[in-house]
Amino acid sequence: MHLIDGPSGRSLIRMPLGPGFRFIHRADLIAELERTARAEGVEILLGCHVDRVDAGRLIADGREMAFDHLVGADGARGAARRFVAPDHFSRFTGQVAWRTLVPAPDDWPLEAQVHVGPGRHLVLYPLREGRLLNIVAVEERSDWVAEGWSQRDDPANLRAAFDGYAPFIRELLARVETVHLWGLMDHGAVPAWHRNGVTLIGDAAHPTLPFLAQGANLALEDAWTLAHALDDPTAWEAARRPRVERALMAARANAANYHLSGPRKTLAHLVLRLVAGVAPGAMLKRYDWLYDHDVTA
Ligand SMILES: Cc1cc2nc3c(=O)[nH]c(=O)nc-3n(C[C@H](O)[C@H](O)[C@H](O)COP(=O)(O)OP(=O)(O)OC[C@H]3O[C@@H](n4cnc5c(N)ncnc54)[C@H](O)[C@@H]3O)c2cc1C
Repeated sequence: MHLIDGPSGRSLIRMPLGPGFRFIHRADLIAELERTARAEGVEILLGCHVDRVDAGRLIADGREMAFDHLVGADGARGAARRFVAPDHFSRFTGQVAWRTLVPAPDDWPLEAQVHVGPGRHLVLYPLREGRLLNIVAVEERSDWVAEGWSQRDDPANLRAAFDGYAPFIRELLARVETVHLWGLMDHGAVPAWHRNGVTLIGDAAHPTLPFLAQGANLALEDAWTLAHALDDPTAWEAARRPRVERALMAARANAANYHLSGPRKTLAHLVLRLVAGVAPGAMLKRYDWLYDHDVTA
């Protein structure tokens, strides 16, 4: 991972993430999961909307289905989440995020770059053998933007937010043709992930802020570990919760670290450049608990 001062374009520190770290397009990951699940004999109903979940039964597209145990992986606004945690609410973080893909410039390095700056930052990483570049750009704002997956925005707004950034970033953003915008909500982990035969995993149980790139990983870890603990979801939650909450807190902290300004920014960048000169891997050491943890071991 490469931290760069956004306005000047100056490198702060490059931290080697190691061979286990991979970049994958969301659609490719979902396609791979679907292929593997079908090969294992799982029946998948696409385009089916779950209207309501109750103890032992759900209503989907007007049809009632009974279950002994339901795993709810339907995100922060799904029916399973409403059943398990009906009173759990989120708060607007004062941050919005744009997401888009552009063709990657030639010779883009196989690394994630975080371009930091006062009140905003921008994350870039390559996808699909380096042909595409994923852009996630975050800006602090007081007005609220609807949380969802499909709110379009004018790319001019994204360009305006980063017009104080280095020429390389401005040129990259000039290539953006379509962009989506999210209001970032802090939900925290819901108080209990299990109720009357319904167990929540992934964003349904604990949506994270996208400042550590761990939301999908945590969801996959949940699925793997719960599959081995279906007979005791309460014990599963007790074992899982400390790691998940630590990741949520680390993601929250990154937002503040990326948006420093004034003397704190000057000092932090000085320290980063010093560490970069002597032990670039040292900064990542504080994430050993995250990256060195293997739920399949
Ligand atoms: C701007 C942004 C950037 C991010 N970047 C990263 C990143 O780089 N790396 C990373 O790991 N994570 C990232 N995340 C987080 C990641 O997207 C989520 O943590 C992850 O998608 C959670 O997966 P999930 O399966 O639990 O929930 P979701 O991906 O929300 O999937 C829930 C599914 O349930 C379906 N559903 C919901 N309600 C119903 C219903 N009533 N009936 C039927 N189906 C329903 C939805 O259509 C959806 O398909 C980012 C998030 C945001 C907002």
